[in-house]
Parts: sequence; C-alpha cells; structure tokens
Amino acid sequence: MSYKLDDQINEPTLEDMTAKAIEILRKNEKGFYLFVEGGKIDMAHHSSKAKKALSETIEFDNAVRRAFNMTNPDETMIVVTADHSHTFTIAGYPERGTKILSKVKYGGKDTRGEDNLPYLTLGYNNGPGGRINESRRHNVNLDKTDDKDYVYPSGINLAYETHGGEDVLVFANGPWAHLLVGSFEQNFIPVAMAYAARIGPGTQVSLPSGENSLLLNGTHLQTLLLSLGVLVVCRFLKDT
Ligand SMILES: [Zn+2]
Repeated sequence: MSYKLDDQINEPTLEDMTAKAIEILRKNEKGFYLFVEGGKIDMAHHSSKAKKALSETIEFDNAVRRAFNMTNPDETMIVVTADHSHTFTIAGYPERGTKILSKVKYGGKDTRGEDNLPYLTLGYNNGPGGRINESRRHNVNLDKTDDKDYVYPSGINLAYETHGGEDVLVFANGPWAHLLVGSFEQNFIPVAMAYAARIGPGTQVSLPSGENSLLLNGTHLQTLLLSLGVLVVCRFLKDT
C-alpha cells in the first residue's frame, strides 16, 4: 500500500478498506472481530518523514470516522489506540498560525537556538535526520520542509528512527467502553475486550452480582480494530 501522498494509481484508502471489511463481516449473524492498522504512520515516522506521518494520521482518522458511522454504539464496541509512541516531538513556542511543517516563529520572526540558527516545530530524538557529518547544526533555512519526503531533523543519527516509551491514549466507545477509561498496562486491553465480548478467557470471568447481562449472556461479538492507529470495534448481538 502506498503512502497517500505517493498514490499514483488511486489505490483504495484505509477508509475504503475498513468500510468494505465491515460490509462483508457484518453479514455474519454471530458477529465479528476486525483489526485495522494505520501502519503507514509508523513507517513514515521511522523514516522521519513527518509530513507523510501526519497525512497518514488523517487517513486513519477518516477510517475511524467511517467505522463509527457504519456501526451502532448500542451493540458495537470501538477501541482506538496505538501500540507504541515514537520519538517525534512538537517543540518550541510557535505562535498561532505558524505552519506545522515550518520553522518556529514568534512575532513574525524565526526563533533561533544558541547557535543562532532557526529550528523546526517538528523533530525527532533520533533517526535519519541526524546529519552527523556537519560540523555545526544543519541550517533548516536551506530546506524545503513542506516536501512530502523531507527528512525532519533528529538529535542522534540512526538509519531508522525508533519507537518511544510514553504511555499512549486509549479511546473507547460502546458497550463496556468504561473498562478502558484511565491509564493501564497494554495487557489489560485484550482482557477487557474479551470480557466485554465474552470470548476466550472472557467467558471465564464471572459477572458482578446483579449486573445486567443483556449484553453478556449468550451474546456474540463483532469487533473491528484499526492501529498506530489501532481501532477495535466489537459488535454485540443478542441471541434470538
Ligand atoms: Zn515501528
């Protein structure tokens, strides 16, 4: 699959493929589980091509919106999360209206480092933009930073930028989505989904006493998952 910004032949988008997958899978009266990953976001970051990473994030957002619009929140659990972060940063104090792909500006002028050179809002801790052969920091004034293949600067030169270690956000909607509010270890996410869907180990978990079991006893699951962008949609159907 090409990056959206490189697509020369009008390939199906992540949104198109997500919609088609749901159309096919929802015919199953027993429900489904679908995992969709916006994997090009990760690949663009590894290459430190921030414009492509942002573009692919928009593609992922479109897929999430489409999945949300195609499903019923009364019977569908949607989980959107990431499997890790990157060393990508949004730094400095760019004034309102500053283009995200450009230099940090304040008062209409470039903000400069101690070396008297301007710097960009976007950057990486490590990656191919380290430019180690230069005796002083690279002057971004020489660069076309809004080019789709521009490699954004990094502090440490690596062939491929690495993942980061921050906590990532988890968004959830639909039945039992309240189980995924807060901060928790990643291992908890599949456990919560299995519990909500009563599949796998989730069938072994006893229900809280007095709990309304409408969505749990004898229900089936439809699940969709999209990643770095990870989106999970679980659809619960009552037995009839
Ligand atoms: Zn990766």
